[in-house]
Amino acid sequence: MNTDPDCLFCKIVAGEIPSEQVYSDEQLIVFKDINPKAAVHLLIVPREHIISLKELEKKHDSLIAHIMHLLPKIAQEQGLENGFRTVINTGTGGGQLIFHLHFHLLGGEGLSGAGFSRAV
Ligand code: AMP
Ligand code: ZN
Repeated sequence: MNTDPDCLFCKIVAGEIPSEQVYSDEQLIVFKDINPKAAVHLLIVPREHIISLKELEKKHDSLIAHIMHLLPKIAQEQGLENGFRTVINTGTGGGQLIFHLHFHLLGGEGLSGAGFSRAV
């Protein structure tokens, strides 16, 4: 599996940098964002070092499907019965700061209404 020793999220996956994990399995880990933009702000991070959505390959299809199915389950576990927001920033133009693919899961107090203007 591809990893990058200089990547912050690879270090978190490896346990070299601490994180507040709420879920993990053989394909991914889920932990709390260090700078939460809402009452619930989690990051879903594949164990494999994939830079962004742009680098996804066909072989990642089952991983992506797994994440899509997991998102509502984790949201429910976090008490987000009314719904949640999922954000994927891609590239510098998309506001991506950490170049290891991750899905933001946000919900609860502090989350703005219907707009997409909020920077995550
Ligand atoms: P993005 O702009 O999509 O690349 O988002 C990166 C996210 O990672 C931001 O929301 C940061 O607050 C978050 N982040 C950065 N360092 C850490 C860390 N050590 N633990 C948890 N979250 C982090
Ligand atoms: Zn990485």
